[in-house]
Amino acid sequence: NVFTSSSSNIIKRNNINTVNEELLNFESTEFNIFKLEDKIGAENILPTVSSYVFASLGLFSLINYTKFENFVYKIAKGYIRSNPYHTDLHAADMVQTSLLFVLYGELKKVLGLSTIDITSLFLSGIIHDYKHPGLTNNYLILTKNEIAIRYNDQSVLENYHVAESFKLINSSKDYDIFELLSADDFKLMRKRVIECVLATDMTLHNKEYHFLKMRIPTFNISKGENVDKIFENVDNVTKYNIQQEFLNVLIHAADVSNPTKPLEIYKIWAKKVVDEFFLQGDKERSQGMKISFLCDRNTVSFPQSQLGFIEGIVLPLYNVIVEYFPNIGYSVSNINGNIEYFKKLKEEEEKNKK
Ligand code: AMP
Ligand code: ZN
Repeated sequence: NVFTSSSSNIIKRNNINTVNEELLNFESTEFNIFKLEDKIGAENILPTVSSYVFASLGLFSLINYTKFENFVYKIAKGYIRSNPYHTDLHAADMVQTSLLFVLYGELKKVLGLSTIDITSLFLSGIIHDYKHPGLTNNYLILTKNEIAIRYNDQSVLENYHVAESFKLINSSKDYDIFELLSADDFKLMRKRVIECVLATDMTLHNKEYHFLKMRIPTFNISKGENVDKIFENVDNVTKYNIQQEFLNVLIHAADVSNPTKPLEIYKIWAKKVVDEFFLQGDKERSQGMKISFLCDRNTVSFPQSQLGFIEGIVLPLYNVIVEYFPNIGYSVSNINGNIEYFKKLKEEEEKNKK
């Protein structure tokens, strides 16, 4: 039991043993992060979920536990709690969603991933929106924000999240989670983490989606059959690159996974995300800027924002993912149920307008 093992001090310290077991069911597709937040406090969510994942998957063989604990609490604090959506809770959600992918998708086996690769995936989830200001890349670019200037308008926030995280790791021995790694292993993990976090830039969606989609006819992939063919007769560099493409699309999928959650959970995330968009819209209005897509609280339809996001992005993406990893099918079932809910909501909204 991970909760009683010696490596789970965070969990013990927070007296999580006294928390209802159901709330700690991180391996369940029904896991409710908001209920756990009510019990143990937002500041403990990312450290708790992450330490559970690291302990249960044996990742503390590479990462010093104490340093990890210092690091993950510090990262959690660096998320801006006043953002409606981009907080450490969203990072924790990403980590738990990635755990479901690893377990249900059997990623280690299917993609031949090493412990370094898996560790990189979860570290990426932890840091992937670190210090997010609650504003989009486009806003930062248009307002000539110093972060946009620093990264030359290219994947501005994604570059910022990774660079700030590595700065933190370098800032003190206390946060040096990589101290046990050889120089080569560190180099590899750093490369994986950088690529994974940069892959969360939404402008890469089409590229990532087509990577998966294109290979379905080429390799005759269906319901998890023939995925191994992709890796047949490839050299190590090519294997590394293909694995990275999979990690990229999966981390992106975890990032946009709100609609794959049970409705009650999804509704809370959806409300948070549009609240954040609307705050940006308010800023844009007051600064005389053009109001960004989905950011105008006076005109945006909440159900339509979700239907557009699901039908344009999330459903097509998960439809191809389940061809490779059929046991992730629970996601598509939830998406389809959630579409029905938002369609009804949209109809009601339209009736009320008349
Ligand atoms: P990230 O900013 O790294 O969290 O990237 C995910 C992006 O996907 C967000 O910034 C939003 O633009 C978009 N997104 C995620 N969830 C939703 C949602 N429920 N509705 C609309 N857009 C979303
Ligand atoms: Zn995110």
